Amino acid sequence: MGRVVAHLDLDAFFAAVEALENPALRGMPVVVGGDPQGRGVVATASYEARAFGIRSAMSAAEAFRRCPQAVFVRPDHGRYRRHSDGVWSLVRAVVPVVEQVGIDEGYLDLTELVPTAGEARRVLAELQQRIRAQTGLDASFGCGSGKTIAKIASDADKPVGLVVVAAGREEEFLARRPLRALPGIGPKADARLRVAGLETIGNLADLADEDLRLVLPGAVGRELRERARGVDQRPVLAELGPSVSIGHEETFDHDIADPAVLSDMAARMAAAVTARLHQEGFVALTVTVKVRYPDFRILSRSRSATAPTGAAVEIARLAEVALQRALRDRPPPVRLLGVAVTRLTQGEQLHLPLEGPSS
Ligand SMILES: [Mg+2]
Repeated sequence: MGRVVAHLDLDAFFAAVEALENPALRGMPVVVGGDPQGRGVVATASYEARAFGIRSAMSAAEAFRRCPQAVFVRPDHGRYRRHSDGVWSLVRAVVPVVEQVGIDEGYLDLTELVPTAGEARRVLAELQQRIRAQTGLDASFGCGSGKTIAKIASDADKPVGLVVVAAGREEEFLARRPLRALPGIGPKADARLRVAGLETIGNLADLADEDLRLVLPGAVGRELRERARGVDQRPVLAELGPSVSIGHEETFDHDIADPAVLSDMAARMAAAVTARLHQEGFVALTVTVKVRYPDFRILSRSRSATAPTGAAVEIARLAEVALQRALRDRPPPVRLLGVAVTRLTQGEQLHLPLEGPSS
């Protein structure tokens, strides 16, 4: 049975949030990112700014040269997370299987809701309108038989796009698009394939085994060629419920009052939790620190990453931020400390080493 998978991508998300919070910015070229006088880069440009050729990852100084009258705004990630949470809780109320892969993008498995991608159009159009009405944000959707098609389709008609690729039309939809548009092809792989004379996704799809071995060897090459052919079996990995967690906690013999000692312990527990997370093949979105005080009161504080992570450094950092929050809300001494990760998803089975940073 074919699957129906959609990809949701919020349009110019950071810039759109800034315009929501500050109506004076509406209709203006807005550039969210680093200081145009400094060495920072553009995180997101509004569509009005894109008209001047400003793009994500461009230096802020270059953006300023292209459009000196643009409004330059420093990013406020707490603000973006709040708006993002509103969108995703709305989506989860409609779609049972949701895999959020970034603050402003994620995959939806609609197979249980609709029989075909064609019939998904109505559901997605309604969801798009509801997101607009309730959050003020615009979203683009792509939909098809797998993640690759859905992701490329969501980018094909931005902003407020809704592109549905019917089953059987995948290869044709992909064929003339540039290779760089294929998720998994980063700048390095793109350069290597160009040298070999490949320019479109269709060129990769048509590559014979012996040629594929030369330009993209191994399982990664075979997987990418499958994706170029519109075949992508990767499941949409729904987050486990909030009650499922991996955690570690310790009750102390003596109450601990030194915040530096507590920080060290939280870091150690975060490392232990990360090791178990890896063993079980999960990544996590949220890190929670639990603190019990001598009067047995318990305080927990959580921090979430922008996308599910298995990185030890990131999990330790989130634990430290959550700990500081807890200790600020109620200072030590502390009787018990715990670190847990929640909102788990299965990690990707296939890591593509050639994948560059997403843009
Ligand atoms: Mg986006």
